[in-house]
Amino acid sequence: MLKRYLLAPGPTPVPPEALLAMAMPIIHHRSPDFLPVLDSAKKGLQWLYQTKNDVLVLCATGTGGMVGSVNNFFSPGDKALVINAGNFGERWTKICKSYNLSVEEIKIDWGYTVKPEDVEKALKKDPSIKGVFVQASETSTGVYHDIKALAEIVRKYDNTIFVVDAISALVAHDLRMDEWGIDVLIGGSQKGLMLPPGLAFVGVSEKAWKFADKATSPKFYFNFKKERESLAKNQTSFTSPVTLIIGLNESLKLLRAEGLENAFARHERLSRATREAIKALGLDMFTKESPSYAVTAINAPAGIDGQEIYKNLRVKYGITAAGGQGHVKGKIFRIAHLGYAGAFDVITAIAGVEMVLKGMGHPLKLGTGVAVAQELLMV
Ligand SMILES: *Cc1c(COP(=O)(O)O)cnc(C)c1O
Repeated sequence: MLKRYLLAPGPTPVPPEALLAMAMPIIHHRSPDFLPVLDSAKKGLQWLYQTKNDVLVLCATGTGGMVGSVNNFFSPGDKALVINAGNFGERWTKICKSYNLSVEEIKIDWGYTVKPEDVEKALKKDPSIKGVFVQASETSTGVYHDIKALAEIVRKYDNTIFVVDAISALVAHDLRMDEWGIDVLIGGSQKGLMLPPGLAFVGVSEKAWKFADKATSPKFYFNFKKERESLAKNQTSFTSPVTLIIGLNESLKLLRAEGLENAFARHERLSRATREAIKALGLDMFTKESPSYAVTAINAPAGIDGQEIYKNLRVKYGITAAGGQGHVKGKIFRIAHLGYAGAFDVITAIAGVEMVLKGMGHPLKLGTGVAVAQELLMV
């Protein structure tokens, strides 16, 4: 038997409290049993999103939330400004184009963050831009974009909304939807929320709802105005993923007990310990600035294939981390510290990386990175 450890940036491990609750018999989504379940999830999500707005619950993976955030607020021909700093930024472009939006990209080298002044310049030059699209945490490169600064810029433009894919950032980073003025904030179940894949969440501001009134893109399954009406009655428009929503209440209960500030601080601490341990091993960060608290992206040492590191971690030691995506596949590997994560997840990951690299002939002293992580994670 090989004991398995899930240290990927989604899916992430599910705590026993949620697993147990999800093992209960199915209840009917139109019965009175379900109404308080969704009511509680709805309120918990508003707490997590730091918002008074509706947070829609969709039966989809995170990408479904992204798709719905394009076709519900925009019409064919509308101008979209996409901040493309990695694989998921690229996804925004593809989704926008599939609904015939006119896309302008701010392309950023992988490993770097967007400069807010570049967004300001683009909006000044063309105030007819209807939406600015970004990732909070760009999971493919391990970068966190400055959502607060970006929101401050976009909110000055009445005809532009700010659409944030926070699928990997939610729970790891402080994202103040109302205070900062984020218009559309997207999350997913299998990342910071510590659940199986299958739920997407979309917070929608009053400003964005006005866009929804005018948007003519085709819609059927993802119809946010209908979902909003259903949610007001503690329902979803179609069959509710009742099991996942029951699990969601358990995850939210754990997070509420921890407190939002503590959850963010925990992710910050775990990410810092991971980075410092990696540096102590003589490895370079792939992320050049503003590291995400959710995932750490690391350059494979010269002459070693990043995919082989990822594969050896999994095959030899049962650790599922992540390799590289797109053009950096083979050049990097990634370790997540997201959701149901603690000190020993980082220590396990670093110990595994040391053993794998030594096994591949890379010179290092076992325990070097682990010791650094231990120092930083001691309480
Ligand atoms: C995981 C992820 C997604 C969505 O992926 P799904 O497979 O559709 O859940 C989107 N954006 C980011 C930044 C992600 O990390």
